[in-house]
Amino acid sequence: MTVNRLIKRLDGDDRVELLRSVRDADVSPYFRVMESATAPVVQVEGVDKIMLGSNNYLGLADHPDIKRGAREALDTFGSAITGSRLLNGTMDLHLELENEIAEWHRTEGAMVFTTGYQTNVGTISAVVGKQDVIVVDSAAHASIRDGSQLSGARIRKFAHNDLQDLEAKLQEPVDGDSAVLVIVDGLYSMEGDLAPLDEITALCTKYGAALMVDEAHSLGVYGDRLTGAAELFGTENDTDIRMASLSKSPSSTGGFIAGSNDLLDTLRIHARAFLFTTSGVPAAVGASLASVRLIRSDEGRQRADRVLHNAETLRKGLADAGLDVGARSRTPGGDTASPIVSLHVGDDLVAMSLWRTLFDRGIFTSAALHPAVPRDGALLRLCAMASHTDSHIRTAIETITDTVAESRAELPS
Ligand code: PMP
Repeated sequence: MTVNRLIKRLDGDDRVELLRSVRDADVSPYFRVMESATAPVVQVEGVDKIMLGSNNYLGLADHPDIKRGAREALDTFGSAITGSRLLNGTMDLHLELENEIAEWHRTEGAMVFTTGYQTNVGTISAVVGKQDVIVVDSAAHASIRDGSQLSGARIRKFAHNDLQDLEAKLQEPVDGDSAVLVIVDGLYSMEGDLAPLDEITALCTKYGAALMVDEAHSLGVYGDRLTGAAELFGTENDTDIRMASLSKSPSSTGGFIAGSNDLLDTLRIHARAFLFTTSGVPAAVGASLASVRLIRSDEGRQRADRVLHNAETLRKGLADAGLDVGARSRTPGGDTASPIVSLHVGDDLVAMSLWRTLFDRGIFTSAALHPAVPRDGALLRLCAMASHTDSHIRTAIETITDTVAESRAELPS
């Protein structure tokens, strides 16, 4: 069969080989089957596990208000709207959600896409052209890299959070009529560190570059209004394109751009990942609207404080036990905690075996292996939730600390 000839070409690809070998050894962290809602404790393959591997930072995925928002939208609009936003796929719920997001972000408008991935791919490829230059952090999300490639622009990667390298890339000459767009994540999903947005915006201003910030992991966590890292750094007004996903703290699916009417008009005409796909299912849009409203309420603030408290307790507990979990990020008001705690392991196979032992001992984590992270940069990604209790966090610290100590003892010195 012709397809087998295509598949054969993947033989020798590190990723495919790794996936096959770990699947055969049943240590694979991937494609595990969840049997319950994403809560502090989840059922996986018939057993309860403390969930440290989800992006449900505020613990809203099983919140009654959010479920009600989803249910009401489902009752009103049915299972799907069966059309793109351009044609029959725009519901009044979309407009309510976009108005709420624009008011929250204090921008002229907002535009909701079906997923965060499509938001990045559609936006970057719509606004940047072949003649332009994209300067992007090497750890930026895959959707940013894919959108950048699709744009046809020249891409200059700078070393992760390295301001000197960013400046060097901005100093490289560009053709007369080229525009430069710098793209960074507000909070990096693997390392759990923040982009130094104050210094990045200063460099963008100095070199006349536009700035796009992906707030997928920082929305709902940082800033007085919880709009994300740009708000925390006080750089909202210097951020030309503000992007976020609705699939992390808001515990729904979808993505959005908040910005000027000119930007949004351009996207409405040119963003192919917006135009040529079906709009989000009504339940997702209803859940997003309920979530954004909840995040903007007092309860949102309490939950944001709680997730950072839980994450910092986890980070400190592991660091005190001598584990390599990195430092807090520098921010204008001092250093700041992150909902993502990265346990640096290094070797892919060691990380996978650690993942499997923790899984057997009732802790669900995410393993980030090459190429999601640099070679020999394997890590276990631990995410706190606002709904974890002190006891969940304590159990996690003890289990992880003991398991790492045992695995070190087993390794040849
Ligand atoms: N940006 C970042 C930084 C992400 O981590 C993700 C998802 N992991 C996305 C964009 C894509 O968002 P979504 O999952 O909503 O498609």
